[in-house]
Amino acid sequence: MAHGASVIAIDGPVAAGKTVVGRQLARDLGFAYLDTGIMYRAVTWLALRTGTPVEDEPSLGRLAKDNPVGLEGTEGDRVSVAGHSLGPELRDPKVDNNVSAVSKASQVRRELVAQQRRIATQGKIVMIGRDIGTVVLPDADLKVYLTASPEKRAQRRWQEMQYRGQDITLEKVLSETLKRDQIDSGRDDSPLKPAEDAWELNTDGLTIDQVVQQIIDRSRAR
Ligand code: C5P
Repeated sequence: MAHGASVIAIDGPVAAGKTVVGRQLARDLGFAYLDTGIMYRAVTWLALRTGTPVEDEPSLGRLAKDNPVGLEGTEGDRVSVAGHSLGPELRDPKVDNNVSAVSKASQVRRELVAQQRRIATQGKIVMIGRDIGTVVLPDADLKVYLTASPEKRAQRRWQEMQYRGQDITLEKVLSETLKRDQIDSGRDDSPLKPAEDAWELNTDGLTIDQVVQQIIDRSRAR
């Protein structure tokens, strides 16, 4: 008899809908939710703040080790790092444009992955990121690889940025989105790619509710 998945990994490229889908899925299932992207964003914010060069891997590694990222609030979108409580700052364009460079650093990944695995031992969880199904939780009960066309993804990010009052063209957002995907997929350590046993779901033309429902159906069949 199926008991349902209790650890769900969701990976995929920039703006495929992971955050909004993951959060709603966790809420519907009564699971914990962890967006690992905000942890990489927190380290990036701190690197920019402290003037640590984003290509200096050993210094970035020390920064991550010395300043553990604390999770704050109930929505999974706030962290504390080095005494700073951060929310919207994690989505600043400067963070957006540097986070993929920081995330290439193996020492940074080692610190954050250890913390993510500790959090997952606490029970039922939806965890989203780039390497959850491949590296962080290879034994997850259900692995979803969420995709959407680059145009749809750029459009989604552009709308969010407009909403936040950021002045940028759609073309620029598309080129930045593709650039981040390229760095995330091309890095040596834990590149973005679907796990062999991942279920690939293209969200073009689907509503958030439809995507969430498809994942719930799939997770109940486990
Ligand atoms: O998901 P989000 O866009 O917030 O992630 C920001 C960046 O953090 C990604 O572009 C990627 O470089 C990095 N990341 C990662 N591994 C994860 C989650 C995010 O390398 N598990």
